Amino acid sequence: MSIRAYAAHAPTTPLVPFAISRREPRPTDVDIEILYCGVCHSDLHFARNEWGMTTFPVVPGHEILGRVTRVGGSVTKVRPGDLAAVGCMVDACRTCEPCQRGLEQFCLNGAIFTYNGEDRHSGGLTYGGYSQRIVVDEAFTLRVPAGLDPAGAAPLLCAGITTYSPLRRWNAGKGRKVGVVGLGGLGHMGVRFAHAFGAHTVLFTTSPGKAEDGRRLGADEVVMSRDADAMARHAGSFDVILDTVSADHDINAYLSLLRLDGTLVLVGAPPAPLALSAFSVLFPRRQVVGSLIGGIAETQEMLDFCGAHRITCDVELIRMDQINDAYERLLRSDVRYRFVIDMASLAE
Ligand code: NAP
Ligand code: ZN
Ligand code: ZN
Repeated sequence: MSIRAYAAHAPTTPLVPFAISRREPRPTDVDIEILYCGVCHSDLHFARNEWGMTTFPVVPGHEILGRVTRVGGSVTKVRPGDLAAVGCMVDACRTCEPCQRGLEQFCLNGAIFTYNGEDRHSGGLTYGGYSQRIVVDEAFTLRVPAGLDPAGAAPLLCAGITTYSPLRRWNAGKGRKVGVVGLGGLGHMGVRFAHAFGAHTVLFTTSPGKAEDGRRLGADEVVMSRDADAMARHAGSFDVILDTVSADHDINAYLSLLRLDGTLVLVGAPPAPLALSAFSVLFPRRQVVGSLIGGIAETQEMLDFCGAHRITCDVELIRMDQINDAYERLLRSDVRYRFVIDMASLAE
């Protein structure tokens, strides 16, 4: 069956309506009518081929939340009528060592990403959430806790897990001083989680107008990162800094704020290499690490944590045909703090 979607056909042309088809559900598949899809900055990097890895046409979208309409005969995780979610992956080999450890994003045989991946079931490319429906194996479908606003929960599927996972891994919690760089989609959830985990949370932003929101979201302090004196006051004091910036910036300025054995976690993915001064890490023995989304079990853990703590994202609902303008606003850091597409607008 043909369904409506939006696709980019080239790096320099706007996204436009595009017809795609989804496979008939197999016994372990879940057919989901998409209600909301978040707009991640990675969608923009992909649509404009900024990472040089896009195969066109690309239907972006990996913060998917919808209503289950049909399930295959052996599905037990969800039932028709339930809310269900899909994040950045739709399958993996499930047998290699990373898959066995619940790190399907690092599958040695290649995780199948939700869009622009190789569709090993139907052939061709995988198409993402800027569409009316998606069919996904139940193992890569997430349950949505009751009581969460569905539009506000959609961005948890990427912005949520991408910040939750490293903050857990590098122990952002009580007694630790944790920085979050950039108050966008990822950053605003980084601030919320670091605060919820009990860390002393500091937001670094280039946007003076976001300071008040930063405090409301849970930051104990807000630092204007372009103010060298304000930055210097925090020299050598952080245990962990989570960097969510999507464009070129000076990571050495943040490394200098880390204490002995402190960790700068890169989750932002600027297209060009970042300059690293050796002395930023030699003295006093600091580390730069990276983190990529999170596995399926941890994504469910994050959703359940959000259900228990009533955590959702701050969203601005848009229509599907406003996507190109939303991308321009992302580039101006003008989003508070995640655009979410109301997918009903695609049916009109
Ligand atoms: P976003 O909503 O556009 O937020 C990025 C924020 O970075 C902006 O709001 C801005 O915050 C800051 N910023 C932007 N340009 C800057 C510049 N030139 N200098 C300094 N700060 C700047 O993007 P997002 O959706 O959160 O994604 C952020 C990055 O993470 C993207 O590169 C995306 O591809 C990547 N990502 C990675 C993963 C992963 O698994 N590792 C997952 C999802 C996304 P202020 O206004 O507060 O300064
Ligand atoms: Zn994303
Ligand atoms: Zn695997």
